[in-house]
Amino acid sequence: MINIVLFGKPGAGKGTQAAFLKSQYKLFHLSTGDLFRYHINSLTDLGMLAKSYMDKGDLVPDQITIDMLREAVNENSDAKGFIFDGFPRTTAQAGALDTFLFNKSMKITATIALEAGDDVLIERLVNRGKTSGRVDDQDEIKIRNRFNEYNNKTASLKSFYTAQGKFYSVNGIGSVEEITKRLIGLIDGLL
Ligand code: ADP
Repeated sequence: MINIVLFGKPGAGKGTQAAFLKSQYKLFHLSTGDLFRYHINSLTDLGMLAKSYMDKGDLVPDQITIDMLREAVNENSDAKGFIFDGFPRTTAQAGALDTFLFNKSMKITATIALEAGDDVLIERLVNRGKTSGRVDDQDEIKIRNRFNEYNNKTASLKSFYTAQGKFYSVNGIGSVEEITKRLIGLIDGLL
């Protein structure tokens, strides 16, 4: 079983690359952002709660996110493996994920960071905002707040996974195909 955590700032390309890795390795793609947006579109209570954080560019509280993630994994227990995209984003989430996977005799194979500078990322997000309809992509103050959330709460996961010998970085600048090739090269080397 391969379980990959795709890591990186907003706009780094996690969702785009996850779509390719999913078909390459026959994995189940699990994006907490997509799950929240699905709940928002379905007008569930969870969706309304998540929206109040997401629209500002704040992280959704840990317990809500962890519970949703666990449920999604459990609902897809026949998967050959998972790509976790946008989860974990805090050390509490990372700890909860380790415990949860351990109890299911599963573990993270690798955490792979897509690296790109803030200027490139902001440009990508502003462009995405023109077509995505995502409130959080549509103004630079919200985008900057998402970067602050990343720096304050998510960046420390690098040392969390480095300590486990599971942290890898890939240059996230280049064409989508080039970056996919870098990721596949890295993952194939780990198998
Ligand atoms: P991006 O990586 O571009 O920010 P996502 O779709 O991954 O896009 O996330 C959008 C928003 O969903 C985040 O800003 C946050 O509010 C919420 N979210 C997604 N994943 C998590 C998570 N693991 N923990 C808390 N909030 C999350």
